[in-house]
Amino acid sequence: MDADVLIIGAGPSGSVAAKMLKQLGHQVVILEKEQFPRFSIGESLLPQCMAFMEDADMLPAVVAEGFQFKNGAAFSRAGKLTEFDFTQKFSAGWGTTFQVPRAHFDKVLADSAEAAGVPIHYQQTILAADFSNPGQARLTSVDADGIHKEWSAKMVLDASGFGRVLPRLLDLETPSSLSPRRALFTHIEDRITIADYDRNKILIAIHPKFHEIWYWLIPFSNGRCSLGVVTPAGFLDDRSGEALEVLKAIAFEEPRLAELLVDARFDTPANTIGGYSANVKQLYGQDFALLGNAGEFLDPVFSSGVTIAMKSASLAVPLVDRQLRGEPVNWSVEYEQALRKGIEVFRAYVEAWYDGRFQQIIFEEKQLASVKAMICSILAGYAWDEANPMTQRSANKIEAILATYQTA
Ligand SMILES: Cc1cc2nc3c(=O)[nH]c(=O)nc-3n(C[C@H](O)[C@H](O)[C@H](O)COP(=O)(O)OP(=O)(O)OC[C@H]3O[C@@H](n4cnc5c(N)ncnc54)[C@H](O)[C@@H]3O)c2cc1C
Repeated sequence: MDADVLIIGAGPSGSVAAKMLKQLGHQVVILEKEQFPRFSIGESLLPQCMAFMEDADMLPAVVAEGFQFKNGAAFSRAGKLTEFDFTQKFSAGWGTTFQVPRAHFDKVLADSAEAAGVPIHYQQTILAADFSNPGQARLTSVDADGIHKEWSAKMVLDASGFGRVLPRLLDLETPSSLSPRRALFTHIEDRITIADYDRNKILIAIHPKFHEIWYWLIPFSNGRCSLGVVTPAGFLDDRSGEALEVLKAIAFEEPRLAELLVDARFDTPANTIGGYSANVKQLYGQDFALLGNAGEFLDPVFSSGVTIAMKSASLAVPLVDRQLRGEPVNWSVEYEQALRKGIEVFRAYVEAWYDGRFQQIIFEEKQLASVKAMICSILAGYAWDEANPMTQRSANKIEAILATYQTA
């Protein structure tokens, strides 16, 4: 056998899971398609994920890189700005985090796993998987020279993100409940000098005419920002021209962005990704589990992707450990249900964002401090905190809060 556990992909879920399993004494090997550093979308972290990096003993390495500090989220709509300071959240735990160019961040995490003794084989694309012999999982990879290689282990964790290796190979995919959307994005030299702009917060701006269209502005520590717009699928089809010009034009339709980016240099080609919301019938099977985006991915609006990815790693690792020790594991209850509980909370707020109800709550002028603290917890990633009333029957809570504001 090549290892106790083979991990497909060295993104955040793969690296965190690998390092935590290594800490527990297991032999782990990561097989990664790309050569790092490589670009990835998903640059605004949530405070909840700091705890997972702490558990994997990766936080000191991340802190040392001097990434952009983040303490909250600002929202802009029709000339109105509102801010959520994550340190004022309801839940216990970290209230701050970072905004990170992912090429750099993911390499820091992967290097940390490698330094702990996890071999990472880059440029190994997984093509096939065989779980027909219990306790003896097999993967087939191909490298950059076209050479195929067989790998075997007692278990496999699929952390392949949008690659969705095992969902595709094992026919586990099922449609997402969310409507298809498209994101158009780039990195810019922002040259923002406006005094009331807070670089410590992600800016989420809403299109002045179409509330379903929103933008992100994610500042980095080097004077650059990630800028993106999310639209319903097909919306951008009518906009002709080069992608960067289309992005620039649509960004300048939003007054706050137009004000902030007046001197910005759009120096990098724009990229686009669509149909990213995805789901699977089941998050585990004989000798494997799906982590992060290889399982369910909802929507980028609350920057929850990396947090869910790391949460999945933190839930799966103790179960893998027990399984490798021959102890019984109830993957359905202890992994699938436990992970999906928080995903369902995010889903309720994502749906309410796009139908406009959560936007109404966010911009409510008579915002109650207690409600704001609970919203801060959700926005900071604490979707699994059952003590927060807004994580319980979330759809009903949204209705109840709206009703309170309408009668106040
Ligand atoms: C438009 C948009 C904006 C987003 N913004 C945010 C944000 O601000 N904050 C946030 O937290 N999340 C955001 N996300 C989500 C975020 O990108 C992902 O949730 C996160 O990267 C998932 O981490 P992961 O470890 O599951 O997978 P990934 O980070 O995708 O890593 C998967 C790895 O697997 C490798 N791989 C793929 N296929 C194979 C194969 N066949 N063989 C071997 N290796 C393979 C890949 O090369 C990659 O390195 C956004 C997503 C979108 C679409």
